[in-house]
Amino acid sequence: MSDETTSSTLIISVAITVPLRRCFDYYWNQPLTFEPAAGMRVKVPFGKTFKIGIIQQVTQVDANMPELKELKSIHLFVDQKPLLPATLQRLNQWMIRYYHAPPGEAWQTMLPTALLKGEEATLARSSCWRLSEQGKEAIANNTLPKNAVKQRQALQALANHPDGIVHEKLKVFDIPATTIKSLAGKKWVERSFSDTSGQTKGELTNQNHGIQLNDAQQIAVDRVAESFASYQAFLLFGVTASGKTEVYLRLIEKVIAQGKQALVLVPEIGLTPQTLKRFQDRFNAEVTLLHSGMTEKQRLQGWLKAREGASNIIIGTRSALFVPMANPGIIIIDEEHDMSFRQQQGFRYSARDLALVRANFEQIPVLLGSATPSVETLYNVEKNKIIQLELKHKAQQNRPLSFQVIDLKNQVLRQGLSLPLIESIRKHLDSSGQVLLFLNRRGYAPVLLCHQCGWSQTCQRCDVHYTYHHQNHYLQCHHCGSSRQAPKVCPQCQCPEMVPVGLGTERLEETVKSIFPEAKVARIDRDTTRRKSAMQEFVSSIKSGEVDILLGTQMLAKGHHFPNVTLVALIDMDGALYSADFRAPEYSAQLITQVAGRAGRANKKGEVIIQTHHSEHPMLHQVINQGYAEFAKLAIRERMETELPPHSFAAMFQAESPQIQPVKIFLNDVKEILDRYSDLKVEQLGPAPALYVKKAGKFRYQLLLQTARRNELHRLLDLTLQDIEQLASARKVRWRLEMDPVGDS
Ligand code: ADP
Ligand code: ZN
Ligand code: ZN
Repeated sequence: MSDETTSSTLIISVAITVPLRRCFDYYWNQPLTFEPAAGMRVKVPFGKTFKIGIIQQVTQVDANMPELKELKSIHLFVDQKPLLPATLQRLNQWMIRYYHAPPGEAWQTMLPTALLKGEEATLARSSCWRLSEQGKEAIANNTLPKNAVKQRQALQALANHPDGIVHEKLKVFDIPATTIKSLAGKKWVERSFSDTSGQTKGELTNQNHGIQLNDAQQIAVDRVAESFASYQAFLLFGVTASGKTEVYLRLIEKVIAQGKQALVLVPEIGLTPQTLKRFQDRFNAEVTLLHSGMTEKQRLQGWLKAREGASNIIIGTRSALFVPMANPGIIIIDEEHDMSFRQQQGFRYSARDLALVRANFEQIPVLLGSATPSVETLYNVEKNKIIQLELKHKAQQNRPLSFQVIDLKNQVLRQGLSLPLIESIRKHLDSSGQVLLFLNRRGYAPVLLCHQCGWSQTCQRCDVHYTYHHQNHYLQCHHCGSSRQAPKVCPQCQCPEMVPVGLGTERLEETVKSIFPEAKVARIDRDTTRRKSAMQEFVSSIKSGEVDILLGTQMLAKGHHFPNVTLVALIDMDGALYSADFRAPEYSAQLITQVAGRAGRANKKGEVIIQTHHSEHPMLHQVINQGYAEFAKLAIRERMETELPPHSFAAMFQAESPQIQPVKIFLNDVKEILDRYSDLKVEQLGPAPALYVKKAGKFRYQLLLQTARRNELHRLLDLTLQDIEQLASARKVRWRLEMDPVGDS
């Protein structure tokens, strides 16, 4: 940077975190040693306080311009260079345009919270351990006591790394902090501090377990590697356990060898210690983690490491998509169909969709992996926007699964379990297979009813039944989370007999334990995995064979490799099959395929049982008899015929308020504004109640926009949003605009 100072009059347009689709102008006319540019943080007066904002645009103006008098001055410049590389700066602009978002919210989504609070964007120095001269002598003279095994190992590891081992990586070499402390006490090791920025050179730690890629894997690796120098989107469509992760690892190996970085996004629930270990074990490279369980400081440091090129592999959940990279090489999205890649609060975006945009800006390949790709992605394969690579068989064995649908109509049920299912469970337990029971409803029972008068308690704020939790005897609303003591007698008729109706995981556990008293049962749902290490403990006890029957919610459906499971049963598919959401069959087909993928992963034949009152549902038969890919093809055809996304494009205004009237008035006002542009081919549906019309004390309505021409939808929104923001009725509700909306939340 030159010391030359520039002095001219500037108008600086700043994005500030407020829900308005505009920037705020400030002026600056003092000398500076650097040139202000988009993407730098500034502190500005805003209302009665100061706020941190991001420069969006800088314009040189005439110092005598009259408009300047109306503006306030920038208070101070926080950064002297843009926080993000040009590609991400471009992504920011793209997001603001595509999602019609307030610029401040787009920045808030992209940047670590610590930066928005004004934290400095500098990488902390990291400390590094080396052998001291005394340490080297101690090894040479073998002066360590014989029983100091840990210390010996630590010294040996350090001797193998003359450049030292970074403090955070001691774990990788099995060196406990206590050992290093005692060695430091003896002055055998010494600590130095270094700047970790600059290139880390990742290397392969010859630990690929001698796995020889099969042909399909090799083709996938080669095909993606051909596109390393340019943009191309790929779908790795591979059945569960077909070796997708192995393909990722080989590609990452190549990327690292080129001195580039790999960004891997995994579902929230998929970021398990096992996943992480698989990456760490394979490479002696800097693996940086980014997820919501980290502190703001840790996240910022991880972010900076990636930006400075000090990490080779970045693994994270949804928001890691925005991490800057000095030398981007590839973006990988594992389980691309997973809902957690969509942000469903605040700024609503799809990390999967944005990954394609970003990869295009970076001119690198993006690889989406899944056993059950989303209909959107398969549609893009049909449109030749994404190249499909297939792994059709399991990597280690490929015994076909056997499927059975049990129609519950006229069946005798024991708390939701049919007799044929009970028989099958017994059979599998007898031949020492593990059994997995899947039920996507936690708690004991969905309703607690008075036996005499039928009274039941509903959550006043959401108009839905409370779910009964037997343990600790409480009622909880699964929409807003509020809870209360369960009544022991009916408050209406004083009858002491309150009966739980329906089945949740807690009750399923009780039932299973009573039918199979010998079996060891583990229940895995949000209630039993609150403790941080709980999931980890479950996983290891399941793998070691201590558990005979594992039951739980969709937490079980994802990513885990349980080699001894031979029977998987979906206890109740009815809710999913009767849903009003047009995507429900897609989600159910994914769920069935994913859950079924847990069965027979190792060398045992797997069996899958589905219980439902709707056994004739076409989706069930497509998935079971023809497979997920065939189901998805038909789903794409159906969406075309009914003109639904991804064949058409949608946007949704949703408004909520404690009173129903202001919500309706606002959305009708919106409709009136939109109607001014009736020449644009955008269809309006509503205003109509949202799927859950009441949630946490607020009434919710929506207005859906649908079109076959995406550009016309964008134009309509460009033309109207400023007016909609200015509506008097907008101040009486909370409202938002969502592009490509899914579900109801
Ligand atoms: P996915 O990610 O598709 O679920 P993984 O990559 O986890 O599949 O592979 C499943 C299992 O098969 C793992 O234990 C993995 O080590 C093994 N595996 C993967 N590829 C091969 C191969 N080519 N030969 C033998 N085993 C393999
Ligand atoms: Zn009663
Ligand atoms: Zn509620």
